[in-house]
Amino acid sequence: MMKLIDSHCHLYLDNFDLEQDALIREAKDSGIVALLMPNIDLSSAERMHELCDRYPDYAYPMMGLHPTSVAADYAATLRRIESFLNSRSYCAIGEIGIDLYWDKTYLKEQKIVFEEQLKWSIDLDLPVAIHTREAFPEVLDSIYKVGAERLSGVFHSFCGTAEELEEIKKLPRFKTGINGVITFKNAKLADVLRSGTDMQHILLETDAPYLAPVPYRGKRNTPIYIWKTAEKVAETFGLSVEETVEAATRNTAALFRLKKQGNSEVPFM
Ligand SMILES: [Zn+2]
Repeated sequence: MMKLIDSHCHLYLDNFDLEQDALIREAKDSGIVALLMPNIDLSSAERMHELCDRYPDYAYPMMGLHPTSVAADYAATLRRIESFLNSRSYCAIGEIGIDLYWDKTYLKEQKIVFEEQLKWSIDLDLPVAIHTREAFPEVLDSIYKVGAERLSGVFHSFCGTAEELEEIKKLPRFKTGINGVITFKNAKLADVLRSGTDMQHILLETDAPYLAPVPYRGKRNTPIYIWKTAEKVAETFGLSVEETVEAATRNTAALFRLKKQGNSEVPFM
């Protein structure tokens, strides 16, 4: 049976209340061996911890402040987010980044918050899950400012240009996170990936409940739909689904340093 990790989903959000256990059972039955969960802000942290505590060795939390949750009171919020890092373990700092699509009011604050969290990731030796929307140059600028050689992580939900993909590949310890967007009809993403990268650099994710792949586009996304994305990525690179899934799982387990399970040399395989 193929084994796959959903490297980015928000199964703790209230869209999933009451269905969490059923969805996790479904995910396990389909061959999904781990779910990585990025935090959003103070309002989501408790829900995320509660779910991850019920599924240790399956649901792995990240901790961070999402750029769209950055406001004037960012300093106090950031201190509270930071306090979580001392109280339990996380597989990454995330999700963090810069988002200028919805609102540019707090660009300066978003940059401060992003760079502070990048520094945490270096101090704690954790990878980062980066969210960037209409802000790729700004995000890149912060990465180089804080230390491109010392940072590792993933550009989650990548749907950028060939030039942006080229910039990510220059960062030695960064991967590209691909989700349902690659299945969208008008998306150029498959072409960008085919000509610009290979499976060594790719992680698979859902970003559930958002961005459900075709044929579920527009509906609530759930982890099992990751298989639709895996099929499309396999087709994009001319690989079998097995080869694609194996590479994605290997890349994800290595980046987030997920613990080995059983006797396998490679985690989750
Ligand atoms: Zn997300």
